[in-house]
Amino acid sequence: MIIVTNQNMTETQWENLCRNLEERGFQIHVIQGVEKRVIGAVGDKRRVDFRYLESIPGVEKVIPILSPYKLAARDVRPEGSVVQVGDLKIGGGHFGVIAGPCAVESEAQMMEVAEGLKAAGANGLRGGAFKPRTSPYSFQGLEETGLKLLAQAREKTGLPVITELMNLTELDLVVEYADIIQIGARNMQNFGLLRAVGRQPKPVLLKRGLSATVEEWLMAAEYILAEGNEKVILCERGIRTFETATRNTLDLSAVPLVKSLSHLPVVVDPSHGTGKRKLVIPMAKAAVAAGADGLLIEVHTDPANAWSDGEQSLDLNEFGELMKEVRKILAVEGKQLG
Ligand code: PEP
Ligand code: MN
Repeated sequence: MIIVTNQNMTETQWENLCRNLEERGFQIHVIQGVEKRVIGAVGDKRRVDFRYLESIPGVEKVIPILSPYKLAARDVRPEGSVVQVGDLKIGGGHFGVIAGPCAVESEAQMMEVAEGLKAAGANGLRGGAFKPRTSPYSFQGLEETGLKLLAQAREKTGLPVITELMNLTELDLVVEYADIIQIGARNMQNFGLLRAVGRQPKPVLLKRGLSATVEEWLMAAEYILAEGNEKVILCERGIRTFETATRNTLDLSAVPLVKSLSHLPVVVDPSHGTGKRKLVIPMAKAAVAAGADGLLIEVHTDPANAWSDGEQSLDLNEFGELMKEVRKILAVEGKQLG
């Protein structure tokens, strides 16, 4: 449940209320608003008398949360969450465009693409150093060397970097280099990994699982939130359907749906969502119009020779075109880049 308090509540009353809830087995998450302080209390609501809670001075209202996800529910923060890393803001009218290659391949590739993306107006840089590949014989990523190249590109451009964490064993390493940690579609329900990224301070971009329902996706986010990390960004990247004409079926209806159910920002990855370069710009435009808070776009300096996902990667010129189109729709939506 959500307990909304106002300025009439004294510190002693606040502490008593929190202690009282904890004694009844509730897990307390405090959300500090500008004027109001809100408690997200997760536990068995039968163990507390709502009318009693509402009679405590300074308690404005008590809202039960009926959905299985409690901390991810919209009611916890009706105004929506904003996740910020340096100059990059995602959510609350701020739009993030995170772009870069599927995988970090070399210093020359990373520096060239990072500078081109920065010049075109991207406000975040992506690149995989640990790659989840279907075949064990495919390129698996440059690992720590890749992370170092991402850090070098960040230094050169000032762009915050996002990269995927695949295994618990690489947690400290990835946390050390990344500004945002990506949990890939294949790991969306790796609950140990979700808990671990919930216990570290960097923001987490949580991709929707290959065949995950919206509820399963939000429950995965709940694992991260429940460990205390509030900085979660959701990413719609397409789901498996009977359709094989595209790599995945990009579920854009999930954007307004999830935004109505949850306060978490939602970004869209039309690259993996379609698997086809030609579809990336139209679906990116549609994502902005559907109310997304950002985009994750694969861009390569030479898509034809990319080591992975070249067929869905834009080149820098095409990315410039995407930015032009996205800016037009952002203006209509009243949103700003970053
Ligand atoms: C990626 O972003 O490169 C990636 C592997 O994405 P997904 O987990 O959505 O397949
Ligand atoms: Mn990829």
